[in-house]
Amino acid sequence: MNCVFCDIAAGRRQAAIVYEDEQVVAFHDINPQAPVHVLVIPRAHIPGPLAVEAPHEALAGHMLAVAGQVAQELGIASDGYRLVLNQGTMGGQSVFHLHLHLLGGRRMRWPPG
Ligand code: AMP
Ligand code: ZN
Repeated sequence: MNCVFCDIAAGRRQAAIVYEDEQVVAFHDINPQAPVHVLVIPRAHIPGPLAVEAPHEALAGHMLAVAGQVAQELGIASDGYRLVLNQGTMGGQSVFHLHLHLLGGRRMRWPPG
């Protein structure tokens, strides 16, 4: 399967990795939308948020915990940050491998565009 995030998780494609363990990898977004823009992905290929089912619940929770840990390490936790999951074309999803956006370092607007 041709998947850019599977390639990053497997080390076949270079990325600026900030955290990794057996389950997830976190790396800087190549086209950052904020001073801090990190993506947290599962190593397993899950197409998107809609494909997250009961067996993935612990993994999904771990992604949230890792995002918080990375936010602490990158110094944006106390000021606050935003976590985003885009699903499908209308949701703005462009890479069809589950990824949690961690955005911070500037004030976020609401509603998002
Ligand atoms: P989404 O639009 O929610 O699917 O987000 C996909 C994100 O992946 C975008 O913010 C892209 O900039 C980012 N992206 C795509 N390819 C790469 C890559 N090779 N390394 C890092 N980030 C990437
Ligand atoms: Zn994948």
